[in-house]
This record gives sequence, C-alpha cells and structure tokens, in this order.
Amino acid sequence: MLKRILSLSTQKGDNLKSVYYIVANESGLTRTEIAERAGLRLSTCFRLTDELLESGLIYESGEAESRGGRKAIKLAISPKVNYLVGIDISRTYTKVLLLELNLTIAEEKSFVMNETSTPDVIIQKIIFTIYSMLKKQKLDVNSLLGIGVSAIGPLDTVKGMIINPQQFPASGWTDVPIVKLLKEEFASQVILDYGENTALKAENRLGIARSDRTVIHINKGIGIRLGLMINGEIIRSESKAGAFGQGHMVVDIHGRKCTCGNYGCMCAYSTIPALIKEVQFQLKRGANSLLQNRVEECSALTFSDIVRGLEEGDQLCKEVVRNAAYFSAAGLANLITIFQPSRVILSGPIYRKLDLFYKVSVEKAKERYSKLFPHLDVTFSQGALGEDATAIGSGSVVFESFFDKYK
Ligand SMILES: [Zn+2]
Repeated sequence: MLKRILSLSTQKGDNLKSVYYIVANESGLTRTEIAERAGLRLSTCFRLTDELLESGLIYESGEAESRGGRKAIKLAISPKVNYLVGIDISRTYTKVLLLELNLTIAEEKSFVMNETSTPDVIIQKIIFTIYSMLKKQKLDVNSLLGIGVSAIGPLDTVKGMIINPQQFPASGWTDVPIVKLLKEEFASQVILDYGENTALKAENRLGIARSDRTVIHINKGIGIRLGLMINGEIIRSESKAGAFGQGHMVVDIHGRKCTCGNYGCMCAYSTIPALIKEVQFQLKRGANSLLQNRVEECSALTFSDIVRGLEEGDQLCKEVVRNAAYFSAAGLANLITIFQPSRVILSGPIYRKLDLFYKVSVEKAKERYSKLFPHLDVTFSQGALGEDATAIGSGSVVFESFFDKYK
C-alpha cells in the first residue's frame, strides 16, 4: 500500500506523500499541526489523513494535551507496513539491520572483516543475511521498501560504487557496483552514502542530536571519518575525491611523515595504527611498561593490548594516549572555531574504548576554542546509538529518498 502511494504522480498523490512524510518525520502531531506544516487546508488534511488511516499506513497514537474543546488525536506511521535494510560496511565489520519504518531494529547481524572478506564474499553474505532476516520475521521480499548502504570512501554515490577504500583487510574493493548488485537481487530502491553522513543522520533523527542544527560528528578508529551538519543540512562533497575527512588535516607542520607523503597529518597521531606504532616504538626503546613482558613480539601488539594496558594504569599507554589526544584536541578545536557547532559527537573505538583519550580531547579542545569564543556553548558526547548509528542512518537515508520533494 505504501509502495502504491509512493508511485502516484498526481497532485493528490503528492499531498498524500507530503502528509505521510510529515507524520513519519515527527511522530505525534495532530491534524491541525500537520495541515500547518504541509500548507494545506484543514479539511483537505482531514481527508488525506483519513485515507492514510483507512489504508493502515498511519494510526492514532494518542490524545494531545487539550486546550479546551474537543481533544485532538495524535498520529504516527504504522511501523511494520514495510521494512528497510540498513548496512554498514567498515574496515573492521559489516553490519546488517532489518528496520521497521520508524527505524526500530527488528533484526541485527554483524560479521568481522578479515583477509577473506572480498566484495564477492561480503555481498553474498549480505544477501543471505537479508533473506534469513525476512524469513525469521515471516516477511515476503516485497515487504522491503529500500536498502541503505553506508561504506568507507571514496564512493561514487551517483553510480552507487565503492571506488577504492584504503586499508581494507581483503583485496578487490575497487569499483564495486554494490547498488547495482543489490538492486538486481532485491528489485528495491538502494542508496549508497558515506558512513559518517548516515551516522550523523541517525543521531539527528533518533539519537542525541535531535534538536541540534549544527553538529560535528567524528569517528576515529583505523581511519578518521568526519560528518558535518550545518543549519540542519548534512554537507556532502560534490567531488569524487572522497567525503570530508579529518585524517589529513595538518596538526604539526614539522611532524611525523604521513602515509599520504605530507608531514604532521592527524592520522599519523590519533588513529589505531598510529597508537600501535608509537607504543611499539617506545617498547623497542626500552620504555618501562607492563606490555614489555606481556607482548612477546612487538610486531604482534594490538589495540586491545593498549586498551588493557590503560585500564591497568600502565604509564607508557597513558603517556602515548594522552599525547595522541593533544593532537586530536588541536584538530577538533580547528573544526569548532570554523563551524561553531552546538554539538560534537565523538564516536568510534578510540573514543569509546580509551576514556583518557576522550577526556583529554574534549578538555584540551575546550581550552583552545574558548580563548577565541568564550561564550560558545558546545555539548560533547559519544552519541546515543553507538555502533548501530551508521546502519540505522543508512535505513533513514533510503527512507527519506522517497520524499526528497517534500522535505
Ligand atoms: Zn596525510
């Protein structure tokens, strides 16, 4: 039924889609509020909402606060009329979510990315997972409204291709036409977007940034992903070179050599590979550390060793993490002074697993930008949706793609 309304190209179809989208976007509105937002006469709005109610696409979710007179009814979309799939392809894992239309997670599955995770293997796993989830929920494949895919850039979002992401553990991730392949399998709308954009979209739609209009979202792990929302709009680069990133922002012009050939880039200091490299370097120099005995081969040191070392109060781990956070803070302060956001979300394994890194990054960034903007009110957090944000946001992006005209 929703698919039928989405396919209408009449004026009435437009009005139905507009009203439906308003209800989807802001659950709990009354008909009067919907009419105001849609710019429709109240009688027209009543007719349209009645049609959507009769078709089961929306339902009466409760009564609004009465201001005297008749009580107004609040409306919400029926979440299980159709389903969305949200996919997050990162360097360390691929996550597939089956989502209800209000973005509630119905099914969830993740698989680790390793040296066998070529595009063929991962796409087949994704397809198999989607069919398994539909079967488990006793759903027909036609109940899928759309599939949103988020991935590591650079991407060609128009052609729906993953171009050549760096540092994937398996080979073959060059010019992967993921949108075409999933469309062929499911005959459904498929949208590809950058993970940093979809994570930000999810936090703005459902998470911690619901009332913010200017937000910086940084995800630090193996790389550094940056999402920007300015005045309510997620900023997308028109260049095919890749999304906005913070990895190669220069934080020390005389600094360490970066993989890109420049000196002093952020990713040479505050990524998982940079932290591992620095701890290895200090261990080889004979630094006093619990890790000296624990790690047999310096080259076998992992991020988990650093996390554990820090939890146990290891001095070397503390020092390396604190130093890395100083650079992170400088880069963060640069962004804050340019965009003056109301909220900064710091996500990803480095912020999540290294408390000290998060605390020092925030504290030192504040020290820097407050000198310039003492009254700037920025709220820092690690987001509300955790690792699910990116895949939930992918589902949100594909859902919204049906309503671009009505935003
Ligand atoms: Zn660089």
